[in-house]
Amino acid sequence: MAEVNEPVNNTTPATQIEQNEKAMRLGAEMLAGRIVDIRPELDFTSELGFIYPAVEQVLAVKGGEVVSTLELLADKGIVKREFFDKFIHCPQCLSVVLRPSTRCPKCGSGNIPRGRVFEHFVCKYVGLEAEFIHKGRYICPKCGQELRTIGSDYRSLGMLRKCRDCDEVFNIPIIKWRCLKCSSLTAEDGVSEVNVYSYRFNEAKRGWLEFELKPKSQLIEFLKKRGYEVKENAEVKGRSGAKHSIDILATRDDGVITCNIAIGIKVAGDEIGLGEIFNFDDIAYDIGIHDKILVVAPALGKEAEKYASLQRINVLGVKDLETVLAGGVPKPSEGVKREPFEFNSKSQFIEYLKQQDYEIEENTEVTGRSGAEHSIDILATRDDAIITHRVVVGIELAEEAVGLEKVFDFDDKAYDIGILAKVFIAVPGLTQEARQFAQRQKIKVFEVNDLEPSS
Ligand SMILES: [Zn+2]
Ligand SMILES: [Zn+2]
Ligand SMILES: [Zn+2]
Repeated sequence: MAEVNEPVNNTTPATQIEQNEKAMRLGAEMLAGRIVDIRPELDFTSELGFIYPAVEQVLAVKGGEVVSTLELLADKGIVKREFFDKFIHCPQCLSVVLRPSTRCPKCGSGNIPRGRVFEHFVCKYVGLEAEFIHKGRYICPKCGQELRTIGSDYRSLGMLRKCRDCDEVFNIPIIKWRCLKCSSLTAEDGVSEVNVYSYRFNEAKRGWLEFELKPKSQLIEFLKKRGYEVKENAEVKGRSGAKHSIDILATRDDGVITCNIAIGIKVAGDEIGLGEIFNFDDIAYDIGIHDKILVVAPALGKEAEKYASLQRINVLGVKDLETVLAGGVPKPSEGVKREPFEFNSKSQFIEYLKQQDYEIEENTEVTGRSGAEHSIDILATRDDAIITHRVVVGIELAEEAVGLEKVFDFDDKAYDIGILAKVFIAVPGLTQEARQFAQRQKIKVFEVNDLEPSS
């Protein structure tokens, strides 16, 4: 059985799917030109202090949900973020309605009048001009002497502030924030700062988004109708231990063979180079998938095309895909059997494959890559419109357990004719050694006591 490691995280939280769905709905609006620039508007009655009215209207959501949807689009590169403004929030009640309040840096008092400040040389008293004025003359409030000549009796320190509570004289007051909702007072660096952005559609992503919104979802439907389980952005751990992300992972287990298709989507603005194909092929190899489809737009470069063909990557342009999707009206799904499949005769086995839409060739001759002719017990082919699955089936009937060399020969033959989906039916069974070999070579084995002759 072709084995694919289970996706690392196969349960997507419902909220994440919903979020994604909202983001795409908004993306569609931008694509259609119904929304272009998304700019925040100030609204101090709202939860965040600002709103995006157009988005609220389209998605019928508010506040934080709007922002997280926009951020999701920004993460996907569908919109570009631009700094708009910075908002501060009261750490106590999260209100955005705050008023700055100037304070004495020494004692924090707000009672800090501003004015010209004098220093009386004799007694060193420092105070606001207003404190010295007495009946039209300057009289020192500390020592009672009159201040007559500036420069010799006293001097002016300029426009400053003096704290009425602690007498501190200073130039720059500190700022504290007074929340107008809960009245709490917060130090200047104690408030939470939130950047607010405006968002603009990223034209470079137009092609990608167009694909994402239509053909991709159609492709997924198409696969589901054919009995595949489909995972988008599937996280899969490879044999190397590395974690990979596959755009679409489609799996269909029909009881005989498990088909795994790795679908890569390269819808860029530019020609797709060799490096990207390498990367996709490497990942597919690491996770042990040999059915590979690459959906590309606009097209592959020459080198990349050659390499894709060599590595048996099925390359589909967006137009090809549309043709496939338009042409393939699937039969109503007969449902894929999940229970262990059992059979008593070769004809029953073949009948089952036919039910699963396989075309069957029995006792056929196939020329291998080496040039050798191989006789194949059953060659099963299923055309899924986007990919053709070929399964080679070997049947070995013996008096006692079938040994390693028979399985080895079968595996060799399959390799030479280039078919990786292998089924071996052994009557009455396999030796331990043969079974281990089959497992290692990913040969799906059916060990049956008896196989009635075909009718
Ligand atoms: Zn004085
Ligand atoms: Zn003070
Ligand atoms: Zn508050």
